[in-house]
Amino acid sequence: MSYTILTGDRPTGSLHLGHYVGSLRQRVELQQHHQQTVLVADLQGLTDNGNNPQKISTNVLNLVADYLAVGICPQKTTICLQSALPALAELTMYYLNLVSVARLERNPTVKSEIMEKDFSRSLPAGFLVYPVSQAADITAFGATHVPVGDDQLPMLEQTNEIVRRFNHIVGRQVLTECQPLLSNVSRLPGLDGQGKMSKSRGNTITLGADADQVHKAVMSMFTDPGHLNINDPGQVEGNMVFTYLDAFCEDAALVADLKAHYRRGGLGDMKIKRLLEDCLQSLLEPIRTRRTQYLADKGELLRILRQGTQRADQVSRQTLGQVKAALGLDFF
Ligand code: ATP
Ligand code: MG
Repeated sequence: MSYTILTGDRPTGSLHLGHYVGSLRQRVELQQHHQQTVLVADLQGLTDNGNNPQKISTNVLNLVADYLAVGICPQKTTICLQSALPALAELTMYYLNLVSVARLERNPTVKSEIMEKDFSRSLPAGFLVYPVSQAADITAFGATHVPVGDDQLPMLEQTNEIVRRFNHIVGRQVLTECQPLLSNVSRLPGLDGQGKMSKSRGNTITLGADADQVHKAVMSMFTDPGHLNINDPGQVEGNMVFTYLDAFCEDAALVADLKAHYRRGGLGDMKIKRLLEDCLQSLLEPIRTRRTQYLADKGELLRILRQGTQRADQVSRQTLGQVKAALGLDFF
């Protein structure tokens, strides 16, 4: 069965290993057999960066370069820019009337982001309603499946509520419900071990990180604080190096053996860190090279983004037309 897929990222900084295991890796597979659109969510990026638009604008082409570097192929995947798709903003305006403020305030991801960012009364209205604009993005492309990290599950729930409400009001199936595609690592912890790896928290290894940065990041990772001597039994649970080995080492049998050895005692932290560093260096080295090559030709990145955006514009306008018709607002 062929899925219709929509995913995206905010151009708020370089993509990182969390994105790679949480969704990029899957996207590269999915584009082989499914209809996939990837959205550079610059409007959403502005919702908590309204005073710093330059941060968003300078990261747009970097994000496209990150996509291409990991193997998202513009012939197979439509890569498009949210702010250049007016139908998405229009759909958001219609959907906003179907959601209560109380419901938006209950969204657990938004709630924890509001706390983290310490907005209190200065909370931008656009930030509170960004899940509604995500619903516009997802439904505009008729997405049936959305590959995301687990922080995005409340957004998909909100989307489906809007879809059901809208279809109920107009009395027919105009909008499509979606379901998440969670990867097996749906939340990679950050280097600080506090919560998920995230651009805003500065606890990342970016896809463009150089070999030295990768080395330093791995060497400074927490292991088991109680594992002072090599021969002591060590703990695997909550041990960041093993969490990362689970996510990045392709040899699962080897990781299982190492875990058993670590638990018994006799396996040093340096050994597992070296293995992790090898895995990460060999993953990131070709990505870094391709990323640098793409970034050297901004004209080409722009051309790719423009082409994808033109395609996405047609699809999203069609959905907007159907929504307006269902509401009886298709006067012209
Ligand atoms: P920001 O801090 O600006 O919100 P971010 O690092 O959270 O940035 P987003 O652009 O918000 O990144 O997220 C894009 C996608 O990547 C989402 O589907 C999200 O679930 C996924 N993702 C982000 N961080 C991780 C992570 N640490 N582990 C797994 N998936 C992740
Ligand atoms: Mg985020």
